[in-house]
Amino acid sequence: MSSQKTFDAAVIGAGVFGAWTAWHLAKRGQRVALIDAYGPAHSRASSGGETRIIRMGYGADELYTRWSQRSLAQWKNFFAETRQPLFLETGVLWMAGDEDGRLQQTITTLQRCGVTFEELGRSTLEKRYAQIGLNGIERGLFEPKSGVLMARRAVAAVVEDAVRLGAEYRCALALNPREAGRVEHITTSQGERFAAGQFVFACGPWLGKVFPDVLGARIFPSRQEVFFFGIPAGDTRFATPSLPTWLFQEDLVYGMPDIEGRGLKIAFDEHGERVDPDTQSRIVSPAMTKMAQEYVARRFPALKDAPIVETRVCQYENTSNGDFLIDRHPEMENVWFAGGGSGHGFKHGPAVGEYITGQLLDGASAEARFSLETKATTQKRAVY
Ligand SMILES: Cc1cc2nc3c(=O)[nH]c(=O)nc-3n(C[C@H](O)[C@H](O)[C@H](O)COP(=O)(O)OP(=O)(O)OC[C@H]3O[C@@H](n4cnc5c(N)ncnc54)[C@H](O)[C@@H]3O)c2cc1C
Repeated sequence: MSSQKTFDAAVIGAGVFGAWTAWHLAKRGQRVALIDAYGPAHSRASSGGETRIIRMGYGADELYTRWSQRSLAQWKNFFAETRQPLFLETGVLWMAGDEDGRLQQTITTLQRCGVTFEELGRSTLEKRYAQIGLNGIERGLFEPKSGVLMARRAVAAVVEDAVRLGAEYRCALALNPREAGRVEHITTSQGERFAAGQFVFACGPWLGKVFPDVLGARIFPSRQEVFFFGIPAGDTRFATPSLPTWLFQEDLVYGMPDIEGRGLKIAFDEHGERVDPDTQSRIVSPAMTKMAQEYVARRFPALKDAPIVETRVCQYENTSNGDFLIDRHPEMENVWFAGGGSGHGFKHGPAVGEYITGQLLDGASAEARFSLETKATTQKRAVY
């Protein structure tokens, strides 16, 4: 027998985007339903995993630098108020060769936005970070106030607080609405009905499956493998404060120091093959394993023969150029998409939730870069 409940807003997806959207809406006194098929930041979600970087550097993309600033302030406030130390100020170190124009663009943007940072020349890098292999690296940029969000736990904490603020959380698979015009309710696979004034689909890499006609060709979920290399016993050179969170910009490789004893984290930012987030294998491939081992041996010579102590396989939820997708469904007037985090979205969760809330409740002006119209069906990445 089906039951029906009525809300001001129903948010489908309790990853970082949906969690913060529900939180901001509930904070504004809205009656909110938050529905997730598997649970907040579960192992198949893009928000799953222990850690995510929060950095201010975005080349010339000031929009995202400002959103990172806004979001970091909100994350810190939230963690202070809920008394959970889920932000680690490890610092973030960018490294690049002499020819890299993007580092200069980042410097200009950070200056304009008032972000604290330090420029490092090769000799300073060598002195400070003797554990890093700096072949081809001439310059560094250090963001001392940036760092790492404890991702999975942070999302769970936001959901928990949204519930404290009055949101109703449900583990259920939401079936996609099909009617054009105004949607009155959605149904779950268990037959429960959620009626709401507005529906926000924050379904990350699932967006293309939920709305195949509109988004099937516009969201590109890509396979991304993550490795953790074991640190030699008693060696503190790979933990904070000796090693910050790091990015080799031109190599498209990034990682983190040893956090909670998991080892040195390393991941390749290049997009992997297209995958289905429900069914893709979560076991790393021999080819990527070899690449990771070779890269670690080159950049962190002391870890040349270090064992891999943990791995994860996740997926990015890319739009054609890496800009977020936050817009209304073209035919369903009260249905919204919130996604397209494109491998860099986690840090922005608070700003995304605040932005959607502004769209829904205040008719705030929309950012053109987030519109559906700007999302193409072939990939041409521009945001990193
Ligand atoms: C390996 C990796 C490293 C990354 N590193 C960083 C980083 O360092 N810094 C950073 O800022 N970002 C990073 N990102 C990107 C960031 O994690 C994502 O952009 C962000 O987590 C996306 O969140 P989301 O809420 O949109 O999606 P998700 O977290 O995937 O959430 C979507 C949710 O929707 C639910 N759902 C889908 N369909 C339905 C349905 N029909 N009914 C009910 N529920 C449904 C799913 O179960 C899921 O929980 C990384 C991503 C990966 C994969």
